[in-house]
Order: sequence, then structure tokens, then C-alpha cells
Amino acid sequence: MYRTHSCGELRLADAGKTVKLSGWVQVARDFGAMTFLDLRDRYGITQLVFSMEENAELCERARKLGREFVIGIEGTVRERSNKNPNRATGDVEVVVNTLQILNASKVPPFTIEDETDGGDDLRMRYRYLDIRRAPVQQNLIFRSKLALEVRKYLGEQNFVEVETPFLIKSTPEGARDFVVPSRMNPGQFYALPQSPQTFKQILMVAGMDRYFQIVKCFRDEDLRADRQPEFTQIDCEMAFVDREAILNTFEGLTKHLFKHTLGLEFADFPRMSYDDAMRLYGSDKPDLRFGMPIVELNDLAKDKGFVVFDSAELVAGICVSGRAESTTRKDIDELTDWVKRPQIGAKGLVYVRYNSDGSLKSSVDKFFDESQLKAWAAKMDAQPGDLLLILAGEDDEKTRKQTGELRLEMGRRLGLMTPGVFKPLWVLDFPLLEWDDDTARFYAMHHPFTSPKPEDVAKMASNDRQVLKDLRADAYDLVINGVEIGGGSIRIFDRDLQMKNFELLGFTHEEAEAQFGFLLGAFEFGAPPHGGIAFGFDRLCAVMNGQNSIRDFIAFPKNNQGRDMMIDAPSPIADAQMKELFLESTAE
Ligand code: ASP
Repeated sequence: MYRTHSCGELRLADAGKTVKLSGWVQVARDFGAMTFLDLRDRYGITQLVFSMEENAELCERARKLGREFVIGIEGTVRERSNKNPNRATGDVEVVVNTLQILNASKVPPFTIEDETDGGDDLRMRYRYLDIRRAPVQQNLIFRSKLALEVRKYLGEQNFVEVETPFLIKSTPEGARDFVVPSRMNPGQFYALPQSPQTFKQILMVAGMDRYFQIVKCFRDEDLRADRQPEFTQIDCEMAFVDREAILNTFEGLTKHLFKHTLGLEFADFPRMSYDDAMRLYGSDKPDLRFGMPIVELNDLAKDKGFVVFDSAELVAGICVSGRAESTTRKDIDELTDWVKRPQIGAKGLVYVRYNSDGSLKSSVDKFFDESQLKAWAAKMDAQPGDLLLILAGEDDEKTRKQTGELRLEMGRRLGLMTPGVFKPLWVLDFPLLEWDDDTARFYAMHHPFTSPKPEDVAKMASNDRQVLKDLRADAYDLVINGVEIGGGSIRIFDRDLQMKNFELLGFTHEEAEAQFGFLLGAFEFGAPPHGGIAFGFDRLCAVMNGQNSIRDFIAFPKNNQGRDMMIDAPSPIADAQMKELFLESTAE
């Protein structure tokens, strides 16, 4: 009744056909004798024509249509004299015979076009208008397609999709929980899951063997550009597998997804240890779209009388190819300010220009002569014409991270993060534990259920903090273009080892029993060896589309204050509701 075709469908071959179309008025152009109107739906835009000469009454009505009015028309397809090669339907137009206004629209608060004049909050408040825009629609359609491909691949591999509960128990590990008061249990609360971690492990004990779920997770954290309080994971777990089997299965999934959405094929993903990633890139999620690895210069730069280097634990730098001469003094000053920003925190920046004529000029010429600088250049694999940028600091790890940030900044400035290029890799062998000075205790680097590497199990009995810091976990991350896309681990499946791990994390036996007794209990009934991984689904969508913000791939995201601007949540609740939930009213 409403349409025989979509607004993206008609082609030259349809000329002469009588068709019905329905959609939204994108724009109307009135040329006196003729009125042209662009009609839009999810599938595209078709040009409609109304002519004063042929049907004055209809043409008058068309002129009065406003943007975003919903109309239905019947008309005849004809070849356009003035073709639009940028539009799939650009060869044709529809000469309208009947026009029905299905609904009027207020003037939208921003333009419904690929590039809009609407700010973030306005777009979120009127998200239904924002979603009418083609780029947002394309993102959501991509997301849907990706989810279908996930199900297809994992389904074929015998994975079973199982739903796990959203109302669960709060635990102090990990991020902050969102909690939900229980009316039937006064003073008690559920928590929304940060991930289905314990449930998927229980499913392995239950013999499900291969589980997955595309699932919402909730974390009450301070929000950054790529964080949302609720986000989606592709959550997976397998029994009777070692790390190799897991990496292969999910490398296979990743390849499948790229192939069947973007048409891209990959060679096997490189693998890098956490230690190498930190050493070479100052990050556990290196962007491998460009090189520029970090090179340590301690042996060449320290104890030569330059106090900044002499007092440093690490002197390290990167070699910026071909930029010795094209980098101006002003560029260097800017970069120096950049590394000194509190977010980076370096004390200063040393540079060496390895000029094309082979001469070397540095900001530390007072302390190092040309032959010494040449030795640095050699160690950094520099060629004449390259620029060396060097940082030094009292803390090895911090300085590496700063140098890694500088590397990324240079990558950005020099346009080395090529859109459309994807560099996936596995990062392996993360530390099991992370020491926190403030609370003077260890935290699980991944989560408390991650297994140490078999060769490190015996060392868990040590009381030596350094030995414990050096423990390695059977944990892995999938990284693409500098973004952590997935993370997982081989799990502990032995009750005593799990208890030992809780002990290292500062739990008493009673606390461990109270919080995780159900899992420890399950381990007493024949738990198989198992492991798994979870992919950040929103992030995967964003990275595959070369975008930074996951927000654009979520239909109804929250803003930086954790608010849904459209429904205006969170919001106060009625006193009666508060009472029923045994909550104190804070209202006066
Ligand atoms: N549950 C973990 C997470 O959310 C992933 C995993 O270990 O499978 O990070």
C-alpha cells in the first residue's frame, strides 16, 4: 500500500514504470514552473518532480511540504535530463501523480545530512533524527551485519549462545558495579554484570564446552571518549583447550569478520610478548601501522656528564625517518611542550638532526660530540636525513610509556596511521599481578580467574614481591591499530590454586568463600581445563570503520556524564518507590 520500491532502488531500466514511494522530505526546490523534491528513506534518495503545467494543484501542495514531512506518492519513473552521478538513483526521477501527506514534521533542530550542524548533545537528545542521517544508519547496519557474522562463524564452530543473568552479585574486584536494590530482600542489592566471567566458567563446568554470547556489560567508571557505562562484548569460553586453540579459533573469527564485512583478508597475526610490546612500543597495545620502535640508549648516553641523562633510569628514543631538515625549530618547541603536558609528563625532549650531508646537530652538543651522536644514530638504525627524538626519566616504565606516546604523536602528525590499513596482533604473557603502591596490595592484571603460566605456578608460594611481580599469566589480548579489541586467558580450574590466587590478591579464605564460593564449589565437581576471551563489540565496529568513538556505533549512547539525553536518565524516583526499596530519600 505504501510503496512498491524503496527510495534507493530505481534505475534507468525502471523508466516508464508506475511506482509508489514513501519516505521523508529531504529538501524541496521550487523553480516556479517545476518543484523538485528529494525523498529519503533508509535505502537512499529519489528525486520527485511536480510540474505546474501538468498538475498545478499538486504542485502547490508539494511546495508547502516542509523538511522531514512523511509522504507517500505514486508516479511515473522517467530518465533525468540532468543526471546526478553521485547518487545511485541519479539517472531517474519520478513524475508524481498523487501525493499523500502521511505526517507533518516540526522543523528539525539540525540538518539531516551526512555532515550535520547539530552538536553532540542536541544530536543525542533527538537521536531519532540523528539516526535518520545516512552515516549513523550505516554504522548501525554495519553493527548488525557484524553480529550476524559472529553468530554464523561461532555457530558453525559448534558454539552455543547462552544468556546469563543481568541481576547478579556485587563483588569488590574490577571496576565499580552498578547496583539495583532488591524490593523483596530489604537492604540487599543486585549488581549488573561487568562481564559474564564466572557464569561462562560455570557453563564449562556444566559441560557446555563452547559458549558465546553477544552481551551487554556494565561498568560504573568515569567516562572517556571510548567508554560507555553499558557496552557490548562478544563473550566466549571453551573447554579442553590450550592457549593455541583459543588464539586460532578467535583469529579465525577475526579473519572471518573482516572478510565478510570489509572484504579484507589477512596473513596470520603476529604475536608479541607483553615485555617486548612495552620495550619496543611503550604500550601493551602497539599500533603496528608504522615502525619507529623505541631504542634504548643507556649505554651510549649515560655517564657522559649530562646530568639529565646520568640521573635517569632510562634514556630512549625514536628515529623519525627523513625529518632531520623538514622539522623546524618551532616544531621541536611544540613537541617539547607536548611531551611536557601533564598527560604525558616528560621533563623535556632532546633531539638530534642527522643531516643529509652526514653531519649531526643536537640540542645536547655541549655534552656529546659528533662521534658520540653518530653512535646513537647507528644504534637507532638512523640514515642521513633522519631526526632522533630522545626522552629520559627516572622510572624505566614511565619513560617507555612517554616515549611510546611520543611515537604515536609522531605517527599522527606524519599521517602514518593510514585509514583502511589494519594491523592486528596478539600480545601474550601479561603479568599475572600488578602492585599498587597506594593500597599496598596486588591486583589481578586481567582478573582473578586467570591462570599463571604453568612454569610460574610454583613461584606463587613466594613471599618476595619482585618474584610475584614477575609472575606471568596465560593471558592474551587481540590488538588492532593500537586498540585493545579483545582480551582473555586460560583459567584456573583447580580450587586450591584459585584460593592461592585470591590469597595473593589479599582475600582471606572467608572473604573468598563469601564472594566466590559458588565458583570454588563448582571447581570441586569436575571442572575441565578451560579458557576464553571477550571482544569489545562496539570498539571492534569503530576500529573496523576507522573511527575513534564507539558512541557512533551505539544506537542510544550515554554522554560523558553518563546521561541518556533523550529519555533524560538517570532521574529521581518517587518517594513511594524509594520507600518500597528501603532507600532513604535525599529530597528535602
Ligand atoms: N571477562 C573478561 C573481560 O571482560 C574477558 C575474558 O577473560 O574472557 O575482560
